[in-house]
Amino acid sequence: MALKNLNIVVVGAGIGGLSAAIALRRSGARVRVFEQAAELTEVGAGLQISANGMAVLHALDILPQGEGGPGLRSAGTVIRDCRSGRAVTVMPAPEAGPTYYFHRADLIDLLRKAAERLGVEIVLGQRIMSCEIVQGGARIEMTDGSAQHADLVVAADGGRSLLRRGLVEEEGAPRFTGQVAWRATIPWGQGEADRRATLTMGPGRHVVTYPIRSGRELNIVAVEERTDWREEGWRHRGDATELRSRFAGFGGDVADQLGAVTDVHLWALFLHPVALRWQDGRLALVGDAAHPTLPFMAQGACLALEDSWVLAHCLAHATDAASGLARYESARRDRAQRVVAAAAANARNFHFKTPMRQLAQLGLSLLGPRIARRYEWIYGQDVTR
Ligand SMILES: Cc1cc2nc3c(=O)[nH]c(=O)nc-3n(C[C@H](O)[C@H](O)[C@H](O)COP(=O)(O)OP(=O)(O)OC[C@H]3O[C@@H](n4cnc5c(N)ncnc54)[C@H](O)[C@@H]3O)c2cc1C
Repeated sequence: MALKNLNIVVVGAGIGGLSAAIALRRSGARVRVFEQAAELTEVGAGLQISANGMAVLHALDILPQGEGGPGLRSAGTVIRDCRSGRAVTVMPAPEAGPTYYFHRADLIDLLRKAAERLGVEIVLGQRIMSCEIVQGGARIEMTDGSAQHADLVVAADGGRSLLRRGLVEEEGAPRFTGQVAWRATIPWGQGEADRRATLTMGPGRHVVTYPIRSGRELNIVAVEERTDWREEGWRHRGDATELRSRFAGFGGDVADQLGAVTDVHLWALFLHPVALRWQDGRLALVGDAAHPTLPFMAQGACLALEDSWVLAHCLAHATDAASGLARYESARRDRAQRVVAAAAANARNFHFKTPMRQLAQLGLSLLGPRIARRYEWIYGQDVTR
């Protein structure tokens, strides 16, 4: 199907929305992106993009500075014990290809600039209130009362997607996982000397760190089990002193790194079902809107990139929009479901209490590299081929 002159509206300018806009525009569509935020800013936080996500970034041709653009090439992951800081094992980089560490703001900026270069119109400060299927397309309503017509709508409006609610009725409510993630970045003087991530395991807690921005900053994600949380959402501002006291049992480098945190945000981690339905012939879900993913496999953004590529490909190779969207849904649903399940299963693997912790660490020290290979099916998928 020729996408030329097809009028597509994308809702949301996150990694899913911007990458979908680029992929669809490159296939010839006219694309407008509506984003509720007045500015495209990201709180200080890193993002690991594994080979499956990098394949899409390369195919979309958005990495200007060669191999990984502003991403830092990972050299694997060291797993450490929380009290002593002792290395338990080293997980090598996946065989499928290296992972890259990005600052989110840098990746969003690259995507935004590429979209604008291609002629995508990005409208900020416009919240979409509803989407209704009408003769020949869809009618979307904005907060300011105005309405827009589109031949197709891509809902990339994130884990609490409004448009998903209009598409899929009767879904189970999201469930609090009992885990909260603290996120911060700190200045880092070590440059690219050590390009490994560190996963430090403790009872009921773990901390992941990795360098970003050529090693000038260190990204910190500290996850703890907690029952006193009800509200789902992004960007709750946290208190650095509280973070330090909650992770007081962590010695070695982690204690020093947490000591340098000044600005920190909190995410309560909720488990959502993968959408039962991803499209209705005029509207398609992309990224977290279709499959919010716990961060324990670092795959949410990677899946969003894969979705975007496959969506544009299916539409460009279909006879009409409805069959293209149906093909997109069937190409993506099983994979998303498997990755979401793998991330959920990994949720408590790093939190064993003694004596299970010693046993788990012994298992990891013996089997570490083999365990890493269990996930090659995730990293080895190249949807652009
Ligand atoms: C702690 C943590 C660590 C993570 N680490 C990784 C990692 O290392 N690697 C990885 O691949 N993934 C990671 N993820 C997951 C990843 O961040 C998400 O999966 C990804 O950002 C989803 O992108 P998205 O574009 O689908 O949604 P979002 O990034 O949520 O974007 C949705 C956009 O839509 C806008 N919007 C919402 N509603 C409306 C509306 N009605 N009208 C207009 N605009 C609207 C929002 O403002 C937002 O800009 C992590 C997540 C967490 C919580």
